[in-house]
Amino acid sequence: MPKLDHPYRNLTNGQWLRGNLHTHTTNSDGADRPQRVINDYAKRGYDFLAISDHDSLTSSRDYKQWDNRGMVLIPGNEITANGSHILHVGADRQVPPLPQRQEVINRVNAGSGLAVVAHSNWQEAFDYTSIDKMREWIGYHGLEIFNAVIGRLQGSPYCTNKWDILLSEGRRLFGYAHDDSHARSDIGGGWNMVYSRERTAKGILAAIAAGRFYPSTGVIISSIRVRGSRIRIETENARRIVAIGRLGTRLQVTDDRRIDFEANPDSGYVRFECWGDGEQFAWTQPFFNNA
Ligand SMILES: [Zn+2]
Ligand SMILES: [Zn+2]
Repeated sequence: MPKLDHPYRNLTNGQWLRGNLHTHTTNSDGADRPQRVINDYAKRGYDFLAISDHDSLTSSRDYKQWDNRGMVLIPGNEITANGSHILHVGADRQVPPLPQRQEVINRVNAGSGLAVVAHSNWQEAFDYTSIDKMREWIGYHGLEIFNAVIGRLQGSPYCTNKWDILLSEGRRLFGYAHDDSHARSDIGGGWNMVYSRERTAKGILAAIAAGRFYPSTGVIISSIRVRGSRIRIETENARRIVAIGRLGTRLQVTDDRRIDFEANPDSGYVRFECWGDGEQFAWTQPFFNNA
């Protein structure tokens, strides 16, 4: 029987919190001032938010000048100039945009934050950050598999293709969904649901670091249960759930709100895409087979 390695153990004594970790304000090229952006997210019921302006650190100290409107504010920065954009989640230091992105990732990892490759399928070639670079770099935590703002630009907001290639090569990378909001109309496209025991920045960042979250554009996952090699995912509003394995292979397609899946010892990894109405999705993190 395969032994599955996954981040969704012990989902007890906590709660699912909704948040966006990629947000711009007038501190870089966003349209609105930070307080206005905070207000707009809070009004939509978000639990946490990170302001991640281009090459501009928003630290926990900076947040003290604004009213958090009941949200947990997470330090952030989008390392931008001189190359691929790297989101610094939980930024505890200003990392300069050195052209060597591996050095950027190393400097992020020297602190407590996480490096996330942003919108790699942006621009006309759908390849703003190539798979070769993403193969070469080590130590980043994950990648944006959905970036809403690319939906109104060239390229694709989705990046599950590169995720599957890297996962198939044995990389352990987590998927994120973000707004990358630059204006009010960008808010609410993609977010992460994080299972945290504490409604604090520390608690939320620890849960994210452990992979105890799932990216979403509208589908809500209500339960994730694993018994031996059996995985059961239940959602509130999916129409179809697809189990995806090595190099994107569809291992099972179930037209229902829930799926029961028996992991095969040879499958390497499996992840689940939960498809709802319109363009609503939820994606689980991968379940790895250590058999
Ligand atoms: Zn960017
Ligand atoms: Zn951005």
